[in-house]
Amino acid sequence: MCLCAVVAKKSYTFVVKFSKMSFRNFKMVGYVIYGRGSFNQLDEIIAPHRKADAPMIFLVDHFFEGKPLASRVPLKGNDKIIFVDVTYEPKTTYVDSLANQLKEEFGTVSGVIGIGGGSAMDLAKAVSLMMNNPGSSSDYQGWDLVKNPGVYKVGIPTLSGTGAEVSRTTVLTGPTKKLGMNSDFTPFDQIVLDPELTDNAPANQRFYTGMDCYIHCIESLQGTFLNEFSKSYGEKALQLCRDVYVNKDGWDADSDDKLMMASYAGGMSIAYSQVGVAHAVSYGLSYLLGTKHGIGNCIVFDHLEEFYPEGVKEFKLMVEKNNIDIPKNICAGLSDADFDKMIDVSLGMKPLWENALGKDWEKQMNRERLKALYQKL
Ligand code: NAD
Ligand code: ZN
Repeated sequence: MCLCAVVAKKSYTFVVKFSKMSFRNFKMVGYVIYGRGSFNQLDEIIAPHRKADAPMIFLVDHFFEGKPLASRVPLKGNDKIIFVDVTYEPKTTYVDSLANQLKEEFGTVSGVIGIGGGSAMDLAKAVSLMMNNPGSSSDYQGWDLVKNPGVYKVGIPTLSGTGAEVSRTTVLTGPTKKLGMNSDFTPFDQIVLDPELTDNAPANQRFYTGMDCYIHCIESLQGTFLNEFSKSYGEKALQLCRDVYVNKDGWDADSDDKLMMASYAGGMSIAYSQVGVAHAVSYGLSYLLGTKHGIGNCIVFDHLEEFYPEGVKEFKLMVEKNNIDIPKNICAGLSDADFDKMIDVSLGMKPLWENALGKDWEKQMNRERLKALYQKL
């Protein structure tokens, strides 16, 4: 018998054994354009998606009201810009009011285009979905509850790090929970990655959002759900974050270029694995105190040496090198009931804990240990 037959037989056995597992079949973003100045092509990109008498709606981060970017939005006919308030992370009530306002004013729209950080992009995804789904967006907080595809939707980041541009979720705070509308209908049809749009973002904000990406990488790469798909993207994203925050002195255009791709790759990494302890704990903070995602992750990660020793060491170095303020003592003065609420939210994020600590995570993480962690923040 020749050797290749043996090899073939062996690999056949391997395939048969493996095929009994269930693999996630995930929906990705439709089209991607990348490059400095690519925003200028927005007009031609969206042109084929315009329907007669149905406007394009641009949900633009309120930071850009009166700024040059607002005047570059390619408005035609009855198109409309709505400057969205992202002082707080998106709420289901805000999404519903935007979608209802558009339905009343126009009946239907050709598309929704989100221009801004993760908050504006999440609003755009959610409003697009709610244009074609009945009820409230809070009805769809969960996994695969959305019934119909939304209208055409485009995401254009002006901050890099969240990975919201590639993810299949839109994170919303609802009446009873903070949870995304996770579905195959949620990813954008088109994203425009133009690093020029992130120029001049304030250093602290750019760091907090950039660290969301760094933390995605650490949590994905050190998680038990890791596989070669996630690893390939996660390692690249981590290297780009290091190039920007560790190896460089000062910020330049190249930093914006790199961080935008880090965000994309970091998002792709967690799409096929999961985040971990920092996200699980930070969700509790944001639910109770309204702490925003990027800064919340930084506040938590700063205290996670016991889970991610190398990552936290490097994080502290990046904080110091980039001269960033990480708020402290934000849980001082909270009541036992407050801690209980945060612990409930955090322990509810079961897949995150399982990814971080393994199948028997409940033996390692309990209410007392988590409370002690919150008390440090
Ligand atoms: P953000 O969108 O909340 O914006 C933060 C601040 O930066 C705001 O004040 C905004 O006005 C301002 N800003 C935006 N672009 C700017 C620019 N170029 N220059 C100056 N200021 C600018 O911040 P973020 O960190 O990008 O996003 C956080 C949000 O993303 C949260 O709501 C979080 O839940 C969500 N998120 C979503 C996903 C997902 O997969 N859908 C993943 C992670 C986070
Ligand atoms: Zn995140």
